[in-house]
Amino acid sequence: MTITFPHMGWLYIPVKALFDDLNVPIVVPPPINNKTLEIGTLLAPEMACLPMKINLGNYVQSIENGADTIVLTGSCGPCRFGYYGVVEQEILRDQGYDVDIIILDAPGRDPREFVNRISRITGRSPLFKGLKAFFQASKIIEEMDKLQQVFLRKRPRELAKGETDRIQTRFEKEVMKCKGSREILALIEKYRHKAETIQERPDTTPLRIGLVGEIYTLIEPYVNLNVEKKLGSLGVEVHRGITIRDWVKTHLSLDLKYKKERKEKLDKGAGYLNLCIGGHAWETIASAVHYADMGLDGVIQILPFGCMPEIVAESIIPTISKDLDIPAMTLTVDELTGEAGYQTRLEAFVDLLSRRKEIIYEQA
Ligand code: SF4
Repeated sequence: MTITFPHMGWLYIPVKALFDDLNVPIVVPPPINNKTLEIGTLLAPEMACLPMKINLGNYVQSIENGADTIVLTGSCGPCRFGYYGVVEQEILRDQGYDVDIIILDAPGRDPREFVNRISRITGRSPLFKGLKAFFQASKIIEEMDKLQQVFLRKRPRELAKGETDRIQTRFEKEVMKCKGSREILALIEKYRHKAETIQERPDTTPLRIGLVGEIYTLIEPYVNLNVEKKLGSLGVEVHRGITIRDWVKTHLSLDLKYKKERKEKLDKGAGYLNLCIGGHAWETIASAVHYADMGLDGVIQILPFGCMPEIVAESIIPTISKDLDIPAMTLTVDELTGEAGYQTRLEAFVDLLSRRKEIIYEQA
């Protein structure tokens, strides 16, 4: 059995560590590129969500590199993600790909089935080894979240233009050469130190923007056209509404402190949306309200074209913007999104926020 899985930002780092520790062979899909999207667009129905098209491209590229088993997370609920796994399986079978697909639904729905599927992946590994590998993978998720926070904080403040990006790129190259969780944790620590010591320009007070929206689009830089780097280079400190850590803490962990904080955040947005309508629209609304409370300068919502939950959220965000006096902009991405137009919209929004801040400052 050689396992593969879809890309989503840095998700491949803890997943690689997990399978390395379990001695299960894996194929990490090649970094997402135009070819990945081209394959997925060819295989998926035209109106399928963009993340599903990219996932399909990942699988085909991994199968070409020797993978024969695909592990993916499942879900139920009101949006199309609920039947992604099954549809992807059918599409691959129709195309003649003979692969096994293991769908991991969140354990809350059927814990016994979840454990069964996990043991299909871990094979003959003793229970304690499996638990240790999962523990190490969750530690990596915590640590890489902290590293990402440092990159986000440093990028708009760096003295040498582009230094943060250069360090991040080096980290992403080196991590692929690591074997197992211990090496990966040591590398994260090394790069956190490097990132912490990036020299800052004196007296810099960057604009602060909160990114909200559909989870895959927020986390995967290929799909959001590197929005964090683009905003960072425009001098903006980015706050991301949802991370891999959030997903894991919400669905796979018993961390009560996190769950309490999450509930408090969701409660903040309850006046606008008070239930799950699929995807992460609930979090999108709650995060927008939370960012207004934090005094951020603006909010950007990003969604894939046709994403049903986020379209609902999009219709609510202007009300939040007006009520709480926080400028907001929505960006929709699909396979035809042009980089130049996207960059122009980001620049225009950042200009607007800078001007607004100056006026508020002058009036104070
Ligand atoms: S959240 Fe949006 S993009 Fe994701 S599966 Fe649901 S409809 Fe598609």
